[in-house]
Amino acid sequence: MSPLATTWLCGAGAVAAAGGVFSYGMFAPRSPMFCPVISRGPTDCGRVALTFDDGPWPGSTEPILAMLAAAGARATFFVIGRYAAARPELLRRIHAEGHQLANHTYDHHRAGMFGSPAYWESQVRRTDDAIARITGSPPRLFRAPMGFKSPLLAAAIRRTGHTVIAWSCKSRDGITTTPGRIVRNVARAAAGDIILLHDGRDPASRRDVSPTAAALPEVLRDLRARALHPVRLDELLIHTLTPAAATGPSSA
Ligand SMILES: [Zn+2]
Repeated sequence: MSPLATTWLCGAGAVAAAGGVFSYGMFAPRSPMFCPVISRGPTDCGRVALTFDDGPWPGSTEPILAMLAAAGARATFFVIGRYAAARPELLRRIHAEGHQLANHTYDHHRAGMFGSPAYWESQVRRTDDAIARITGSPPRLFRAPMGFKSPLLAAAIRRTGHTVIAWSCKSRDGITTTPGRIVRNVARAAAGDIILLHDGRDPASRRDVSPTAAALPEVLRDLRARALHPVRLDELLIHTLTPAAATGPSSA
């Protein structure tokens, strides 16, 4: 092989490797390449965090709230801003029952990761505003749709002062599934895990959301049997969140 061909191949290999690393940074939910990400809490606390994404969703969020109340459990709801703005009564109930509200973007566009800096700032701040109208202050925590993070999203998160949360245990209820599968997936959770569940669905999805609520009683019984107490993320991460995250983002 000629020296020129060797140089070209080495260059192409370097570009491919860099592309692979960049893709990991964007598509791996726990990747800290563009911003710090918390995906697990302390493992010695006997606690787990149930997190519900893509709501509030009428017909699903209410029974989930009732089951959490019956079990004495608290959770975190990563709401889609446009749903939150359209369903303030449901958002108010989540907050009034002691759960934590958090930011999951305004529109949950699946291709949103290619949005501009202004797009991301708007997605985050409009959702903050929808939540703050109910709670009196913007949320401190943010989760990216599908966990995908671009450098521009990360820059918006830095400006708005949120802490990015991923997960360490997937119920895999964001796809068509059954209550039994959800129960089996969450049965793998251990102390410190951040468990990903969905009380609603994103605007591009048509899947049935009911298996999550149907699975929850057994999920809660199993956690209790294993002495794992479900708490809010700010309770699980009480020694992890920075002072800025503890007081919430600025309203600038
Ligand atoms: Zn989502």
